[in-house]
Amino acid sequence: MKYDIALIHGDGIGPEIIDSAVEVLNHIGSVFSHEFDYTGVIAGGSSIDKFGIPLLEEELEKCKKADAVLLGAVGGPKWDTLPGDKRPERALLGIRAGLELFANIRPAILYPPLADACPLKLEAYGGAIDIIVVRELTGGIYFGKRERVGDTAYDTMSYSVSEIERIGRVGFETARKRKKKLTSVDKANVLESSRLWREVMHGIKSEYPDVEYADMLVDNCAMQLIRNPGQFDVIVTENMFGDILSDEVSMLTGSIGMLPSASMGSGSLGMFEPIHGSAPDIAGQGIANPIATILSAAMMLRYSFDLDTEADAVENAVLSVLEKGYRTRDIAGSSDKIVGTREMTRLIIEEIEKQ
Ligand code: NAD
Repeated sequence: MKYDIALIHGDGIGPEIIDSAVEVLNHIGSVFSHEFDYTGVIAGGSSIDKFGIPLLEEELEKCKKADAVLLGAVGGPKWDTLPGDKRPERALLGIRAGLELFANIRPAILYPPLADACPLKLEAYGGAIDIIVVRELTGGIYFGKRERVGDTAYDTMSYSVSEIERIGRVGFETARKRKKKLTSVDKANVLESSRLWREVMHGIKSEYPDVEYADMLVDNCAMQLIRNPGQFDVIVTENMFGDILSDEVSMLTGSIGMLPSASMGSGSLGMFEPIHGSAPDIAGQGIANPIATILSAAMMLRYSFDLDTEADAVENAVLSVLEKGYRTRDIAGSSDKIVGTREMTRLIIEEIEKQ
């Protein structure tokens, strides 16, 4: 099969980590007989430098025509003083809106070889963290009416039945492919939009009898994630709660350079990117951790191309390299073998070959 991938190298360490992901993808292509074609898309700070704005319409069109979008990271101090709507990060909002990506999927896995990075006492809950947060991305308080009137300001959180239903289904479908446990997080004891959220979730849960379903209030969820993260499989929630909880969950793994993410719409086209930023402090030094981007490429194989075996091959290779004690500097302990971006990429490819 042939797959067209829009590649956004972006700024800072973006180009280095995207090169790593492309090398891994090309290797997967040759092992499993797939052809990956790449179309470069200029977005973020590099687009501001070249065209004066973060995202040109024609660059967005390239994303729309692709089968998936793979992004490094955008932004950096050079563009920090620009007003909000002209900053590099606007490019990401433009792509999310343009591709109608309403579901943000963020896995957080604590790999056993990196257990020391977890700030919690692992023995308290059996030592395993493997959670996916499914966050609604295009509704809620971030998009509702807001205003300042005199010395008062307000923001509104609103959701429609169809908005809740489509993200709810992503939650159920994601749980179905894993341990079949879904926790729907809301604030139904206070918010009307949460009461509707709960009603709609209860309306569709009978369609997924194989999935164990539970409601949880957001304040309790924030607490339970620290008390016993091992109890969660998939969490589905609205935009702002998801923003906060997914950051909390990512900190449980202790390593920002390891975590991938996907943003999906109603079809198979999605955008895949590491959760970290462009790390301008280490750009160009060859020491960036490419694993989050390589795992984002694995998510692309799984979620956009339905290539589960190929995604497993990448994820298992990453685990093997970590088990052998190789680390980039950001995740290294005193007894680890420290490698740079290129070396880490080569080691992962070698492990794919051995499978
Ligand atoms: P950051 O994630 O770029 O960096 C935070 C810290 O983590 C830095 O010390 C950095 O060196 C380290 N780090 C991050 N990724 C790493 C990796 N792969 N390997 C090794 N170390 C890594 O966050 P920041 O410093 O707050 O932001 C820098 C720029 O990135 C800003 O302009 C910000 O707006 C932008 N940003 C972009 C995205 C995105 O493109 N999706 C997301 C967040 C931040």
